Amino acid sequence: MTEVFKGNFTQQEPIPEEGIEAAVAVMRSGRLHRYNVLPDEEGEVATLEREFAEAMGVPYCLAVASGGYALACALRALGVKPGEPVLTNAFTLAPVPGSIASIGAVPVFVEVTEALTIDIDDVAAKARATGAKVLMLSHMRGHLCDMDQLMAVCDGLGVQVIEDCAHTMGARWNGRLSGTDGIIGCYSTQTYKHMNSGEGGLLVTRDPEVMARAVMLSGSYMLYSKHTAAPGAEAFAEIRYETPNVSGRMDHLRAAILRPQLARLSEQCERWNERYRAVEAGIRGTTGLTVVERPEVEYYVGSSIQFLLLDWASAKVQEVVARCAARGVELKWFGAGEPVGFTSRYDSWRYAPSERMAKSDRILGGILDMRLPLTFSLEDCAQIARIIRAEVGAVHQAA
Ligand SMILES: *Cc1c(COP(=O)(O)O)cnc(C)c1O
Repeated sequence: MTEVFKGNFTQQEPIPEEGIEAAVAVMRSGRLHRYNVLPDEEGEVATLEREFAEAMGVPYCLAVASGGYALACALRALGVKPGEPVLTNAFTLAPVPGSIASIGAVPVFVEVTEALTIDIDDVAAKARATGAKVLMLSHMRGHLCDMDQLMAVCDGLGVQVIEDCAHTMGARWNGRLSGTDGIIGCYSTQTYKHMNSGEGGLLVTRDPEVMARAVMLSGSYMLYSKHTAAPGAEAFAEIRYETPNVSGRMDHLRAAILRPQLARLSEQCERWNERYRAVEAGIRGTTGLTVVERPEVEYYVGSSIQFLLLDWASAKVQEVVARCAARGVELKWFGAGEPVGFTSRYDSWRYAPSERMAKSDRILGGILDMRLPLTFSLEDCAQIARIIRAEVGAVHQAA
């Protein structure tokens, strides 16, 4: 019997009914722009910012047009200049180096470890070698590095950390919410992330000056006092004259559908983790396959799962991908020579040339990656794991 999985790896859950109703109310009002509010009205966007800041335990939050916009806005808010080196992960997705390049700065890639996290020793080495003063830290696929060690190293070197939390909204290191250790945390609310507004982003910080700059950058004109999760007017006194407008605001429609999702975020994280653990339990112990062990102090959000076929020949990895695909299981491979779909790697970003990274190449060549949408049942997850186990086993045995 060869079972075939019939589910859809890119099927999301519907938007909660309250969100749909709130969105319809916004449309009926005709006031979609975030600053188009009645005299005593906060508006969906400012309310979302206030609620997200509260949920993250920080004073300030800004809602923007996309996660990638939040990243570029963060770099600008820190005053990163064209030509300046910015450290970032070799294992990440295109919007991350893209945000650095978008302001004319220069991505400097840092090696990835077998835990799929940034190599902290290489952060220090590359910071020293290039003089970089900013790290754009991508918590790629939800894997958190040792944030205590990383922050100590970066503080010691005078490197400011921007956290890309596109895959870690709701995750924690040692009890601290992802995005609250660095000077700025950035999140995406694009369809494939932990809250879905089609497109969208959020940026958090505890620094009033940074938030004032971010608000002006996002396109607040002189309406910054309408932000209820931003510092008071005094923080804008000079900044409002010095900061260019790079419009990238969120609108009320998106905020309306996000607010009920924020209220359910913790519950959703738990549901992802049940699915993650079901797949993990099913593939653990497969010969030739390395499960990525998660540290005890990491509370992850298993919206996707990765495993390694370390030191396998490329052709064999490709055979596993093809055989799983034939049985309905979509795996993404980070070792492919040519970028495909959403998946590319540091050497495909030719606008940001880099030396070969032997250590990262070995890891990237072995990473297989799979989404775990909440529309999958636990039985679906068990079936997917059986298929992976069987196909990895078959190819490994034949090798
Ligand atoms: C999705 C994503 C982003 C940015 O998201 P957009 O909202 O699509 O701009 C940033 N980093 C990573 C790792 C992502 O997956």
